[in-house]
This record gives sequence, structure tokens and C-alpha cells, in this order.
Amino acid sequence: MTKLEEMLGRARSLVILGHINPDGDCVGACLAMYNYAGICNPGLYRKVYLQTVPQKFSYLQGYDEVESEVRQEEPFDLCVCLDCSNKERLGGFQVYLESANSSLCIDHHVTNPGYAQENIIWPQASSTCEVLYGQLDEGLINQDIAACLYTGIIHDTGVLRFSCTSSRTMEIAGKLMATGIDFTKIIDDSYFKKTYLQSQILGRALMESVRFFDGKCIFTVVKKQDMTFYGVGPKDLDGIVDQLRTIDGIECAIFMYETDSHMYKVSMRSNNVVDVSRIASYFGGGGHVRAAGCTMSGSVHDVVNNLSGHIEKQMLEETADV
Ligand code: AMP
Ligand code: MN
Ligand code: MN
Repeated sequence: MTKLEEMLGRARSLVILGHINPDGDCVGACLAMYNYAGICNPGLYRKVYLQTVPQKFSYLQGYDEVESEVRQEEPFDLCVCLDCSNKERLGGFQVYLESANSSLCIDHHVTNPGYAQENIIWPQASSTCEVLYGQLDEGLINQDIAACLYTGIIHDTGVLRFSCTSSRTMEIAGKLMATGIDFTKIIDDSYFKKTYLQSQILGRALMESVRFFDGKCIFTVVKKQDMTFYGVGPKDLDGIVDQLRTIDGIECAIFMYETDSHMYKVSMRSNNVVDVSRIASYFGGGGHVRAAGCTMSGSVHDVVNNLSGHIEKQMLEETADV
């Protein structure tokens, strides 16, 4: 019996939490957990609290059950936190973790300090959904659960192509496919499909991107006024940084969007050398070696300057090692 099964079996109430601005891995893991818990322990009182989940994930079973506003609740027996690298990223739902009788964190962020009572953190796993799969009884994974887990794996691996993808990831994806899920539709509708406006802002961000360090780094920024002009929000900017990363010759890509005056949400991606999780952690964020993020203040110039100092240092260290 896994730690999760043991804790689920004992609990009478369960609250499931993920990170703010939930992405595919977070939503997939939380809803997989929600559906699995219902099968494993049918009498269980279950809740999932997440910030608004994008409509593109509405095909997932349990989507309509997600609550997005904090409510008065009796303390839960068990709080499971998924794909959330630190307590602060639980946002306002952190109160449920604080008041729960027991807690379990399942994650794959190298920067996770292990903030729950029990922590299952595998930084080498592609996604939280991959870690979660290892905690479940395979015999209980039905199509609903498989669709959730598959969605998470697809999103965090860029459809099984980022370097975090291992042969184990592929094996799990294969087993999930074998349940009969409509994998082509999941990939197209939740990962690739973009609205016209999302495509336009992507185009504009690429047009305005700037390369530096001999074409090895690139950055682009979307200002509040651009988002207003195109009628888009932060969730419509997914994928811009991944597009920058795949430009020929690029080692490190930076994408930032304005959240407030002189405040930027920064996303970083790297290809071979730069450990972006180290840089993001330095600026109060976190993530993975090849994909990380943080929030920074100052002008665009300040932010890029601060980041590029760290990137340059790492790139020079690498050259010195060779
Ligand atoms: P993003 O660039 O937002 O797609 O995030 C890349 C990775 O870094 C994801 O795994 C995020 O969970 C993580 N991440 C992004 N922003 C933060 C942050 N402020 N603090 C901790 N982790 C973050
Ligand atoms: Mn995530
Ligand atoms: Mn993840």
C-alpha cells in the first residue's frame, strides 16, 4: 500500500489543492486525485479548491466540481497539495492546509522544500501526474482518471518532447492510452488549439522579441496595454516562452508580462546549459532546471539586466569547465 492509499483510507474528509494560475499538470493531478479518491473511498467528503480553471480543461471529469472561492469549512482530515512548489503558491487556499489534521504534498519541483507533513517529491519526474501515477493502484485507473493524468503529462512535457520526458513517462502515457482515452483530441484541444486573439498576441510577442549574448538568449515582453488591446489575459499567453526556446541557436528564453505597474511575471526556459530554477529561486520564484518562473519588479530593462547577469555567469562557468 502506498502512503497516499494509506492516508486516503483513514480520512473522512479530503481537500485537494494546487498552485495559483493552475496549468494542465496541476488541473490534471488535482482532478485525477479527486476522481481516484471517490473510487478508493466512496464515503469520503471531497473538495477541490483551485483558482479559475481554463475552459479548455472542461472535458475532464470533476471540472464542474472545482471551487474557486475560499469558503468556511470544517477542518479537513487530509489535505493533498499537488504540483505546488511552496505554500505561498497555494494562494488563499493555504488556510485549508494550515487547518487540516494531516497533509501530503505530491510534486516534482526541485525547489520544493517539503512543506506538508508527508512529502513525495520526485524532481526527476516529468510531471506531478507522473509522480501521482506511482501512488495509485493501477487497477483502479479508469478512463476519467487516465484522461486527467494524460493531460498533465502532455502539458508538462510539451507533448512528450521536453527533456524531462523519460522512458518511464512514455510507459505511463502508453498505459493511459490503453484505457481508450481520446488522446488526439486531448492533445489538440487542450495543448495546441489557440483562439485567434491568442495567436495574434503570440505573433506580436515574437515580432518584438530581442536577442542578446550573440543570439544565445532572447526575451520578449507583453505589457498590460497590449493585453487590453488584444482583449487577452495572462492565461492566453501560454506557450509564448516555449516558442522562443525553439528558435535556432537559443540557449535561454525569457518571457515576461506585466502584472502591475513595474511588476512582471517572468518565465524562463533553457536548452542545455543554464539552470533556470537557480535563477528563479534567487529572485523568489522556483521551478525546474529547464523551466522556471518568478515575479520581479522594476522596469523591463532592470528585469532583463538582472536576469542576464545570472545567465551570463552560468554560461561563462560552463565555458570555463570545458
Ligand atoms: P511558467 O514559466 O510559469 O510556465 O513556470 C515554469 C515552472 O516554474 C512551473 O513548473 C512553475 O510551477 C514554476 N514556477 C513559475 N513561477 C513560479 C514562482 N513564482 N514560484 C515558484 N515556482 C514557479
Ligand atoms: Mn504546474
Ligand atoms: Mn508540473
